[in-house]
Amino acid sequence: MKALRFHGNKDLRLEEVPEPVAAPGEAQIRVDYCGICATDIEEYLYGPKFLRQELIPLITGHEMTGTISALGEGVTNVSVGDRVVINSLLSCGTCWWCKRGEMQLCPSWKVLGFDRSGGLAQYTTWPASEIIKLPEHVTSEAAALMEPSSVAHHAVRRANISKGDSVAVLGAGTVGLLSMQIAKAKGARVFAVDRRDMSLGMASELGAEVAINSETTNPIEALQELTEGVGPDVVIDAAGAASTPDLAIKLTRKGGRVVLVAIYVDTPSFDFNSIVTSEVEVTGSIAFTREDVEGALDLISSGKVQTTPLITEQISMDEIISVGFKRMTAETKDVFRILVSPQS
Ligand SMILES: [Zn+2]
Ligand SMILES: [Zn+2]
Repeated sequence: MKALRFHGNKDLRLEEVPEPVAAPGEAQIRVDYCGICATDIEEYLYGPKFLRQELIPLITGHEMTGTISALGEGVTNVSVGDRVVINSLLSCGTCWWCKRGEMQLCPSWKVLGFDRSGGLAQYTTWPASEIIKLPEHVTSEAAALMEPSSVAHHAVRRANISKGDSVAVLGAGTVGLLSMQIAKAKGARVFAVDRRDMSLGMASELGAEVAINSETTNPIEALQELTEGVGPDVVIDAAGAASTPDLAIKLTRKGGRVVLVAIYVDTPSFDFNSIVTSEVEVTGSIAFTREDVEGALDLISSGKVQTTPLITEQISMDEIISVGFKRMTAETKDVFRILVSPQS
């Protein structure tokens, strides 16, 4: 089968490799779509960072949906032909965090495309217990954004949103816009802050009450005006620039909450007194649990979260670097998600 393997920094190769065989308890999945994420680009340009060294060359890609193509011994919860998504984070189930249901903090987690062969291939295998069948009416295209939707769902859960809260999302990219929609589905008033017109347009289309261009408008003043002069209850930083955690704290009302859901490439620095004096709670959000995967799938299934407007382009395996990575790294990035279709 065709697969994209990570051989090292800036060295991804489209190769012919043996088709994976489902071990007992696993299923083989024919990959229908796999998205290209900013993390894939970071691994390519600066990696290996999160990708496990000793597994290189490793098939990459972690935003995958597919159709069951074969079953390993003892699998009964899915059948050949089922369209599925997966909980792409396998946790040990026995550590201190797993026992408390905080699988996203498991120190020995295994993630698709980082600790196991990934989704940028024609086939992959996964433990059947962590495979979830898609409802009939959810298209495979919509399901291809299941992983970023789960990340966003976890971030919103970390934000502890109550009905009527005001939530501003900093960075209206894929995870930002999914977080915004999920917060809205939970009953929040939502605002988006970004510098790109394309992102702001999409934010308005997907339900932002106001989309603020931070290049032309002071976002602190704009958000205070929209929230009786106090600022939003919650700010979610999905932008991940060195300056955005500091801005997020300044945007939030005193006593509010900031959720950091980005991976910061450049190390931010800020004055911790801004936290002391505002009593803003700052929390991180990493990955997701199965509860987030199922919660996000419910919201996609009920139409409360739209993923397909965020699919900018569909490409073949041969175009991953020349088209996919090129568009994702362009200075004037004009994409949300690019889906790779490994069967074409
Ligand atoms: Zn991703
Ligand atoms: Zn664990």
